[in-house]
Amino acid sequence: MTPFAKSILEWYDAYGRKNLPWQHNKSAYSVWLSEIMLQQTQVATVIPYYQRFLERFPTVVDLANAEQDEVLHLWTGLGYYARARNLHKAAKIVADQYNGEFPLDIEQMNALPGIGRSTAAAVLSSVYKQPHAILDGNVKRTLARSFAVDGWPGQKKVENQLWQFAEQHTPAHDVDKYNQAMMDMGAMVCTRSKPKCTLCPVESFCEANKQGNPLDYPGKKPKKEKPVKETWFIMLYHDNHVWLEQRPQSGIWGGLFCFPENPDADLAHQITQRGVIDSEISRQTQLIAFRHTFSHYHLDITPILVEVSKQPHVVMEGSKGLWYNLSQPEEIGLAAPVKQLLESLPYELQ
Ligand code: SF4
Repeated sequence: MTPFAKSILEWYDAYGRKNLPWQHNKSAYSVWLSEIMLQQTQVATVIPYYQRFLERFPTVVDLANAEQDEVLHLWTGLGYYARARNLHKAAKIVADQYNGEFPLDIEQMNALPGIGRSTAAAVLSSVYKQPHAILDGNVKRTLARSFAVDGWPGQKKVENQLWQFAEQHTPAHDVDKYNQAMMDMGAMVCTRSKPKCTLCPVESFCEANKQGNPLDYPGKKPKKEKPVKETWFIMLYHDNHVWLEQRPQSGIWGGLFCFPENPDADLAHQITQRGVIDSEISRQTQLIAFRHTFSHYHLDITPILVEVSKQPHVVMEGSKGLWYNLSQPEEIGLAAPVKQLLESLPYELQ
């Protein structure tokens, strides 16, 4: 075992997290679920989602048998919805092709939708103590600083270097503890903006600390201005119901329910397409525009509330739509800005 790994493990025994919900009664299913939820998301946010998911889907087969709408509904608010769609797809494969048991082979697990090399390694090392290195965002940061690895980890060359360090220091014994310790180190000690170097178990090895510049690692992604796109949301409203449509599976908010949208303010054709005639529009109000930011662009959204005197019969070709009851909401997945607008709608209607 390297001195680096030994120090990390000693620190874990004294200070590491041992009482997270997914650390009890571990199974490949529960650890996998937590790993997917924890991608780009804080532990405190994940805990209630994780608990609701396990309560509703106690096994991977229960998850596989669920409707996608219900899975997306339980995911609403966690963001990065591709994770939920992949989670569901992977559960179906495990149920159908592996008899409801996750494969124990890292290559086979890595091949499941949404499971990368690090996630597969995290599950197999945590549950079965298989000696695989992990490299999530927290681990990348700690290793980049400890070994002064230059460059942005999004570049293959830099990532490969980090994998080399990860593999070199991951011990064959206590790999479950070591991997958890590395995640904890990144979350608790070697944090993004305020690393606590004086409390760090690898302070004496750490190259960035010796150089006095931990914040220079890992290297930043080369900056590119995000483009701004615009859209108009059409909020058809009648008698405490609003019209929502399911989006295609690919693209933004795939599979989630959203208002009909239009790329400019000329909404007449979109409204007519939904069976509304002019004389049935009792009021049309432009609500406050707001910005929703994705990883690769900003979307400026202008919501238009269209109150109609009777509920039109909407005929949809090839996709699903529904009149969403604001008093008794259906269990469907909602895009984050849609959820936000539905919550503020009662105030707009006063
Ligand atoms: S000494 Fe500081 S920068 Fe280096 S690993 Fe520890 S916390 Fe991170």
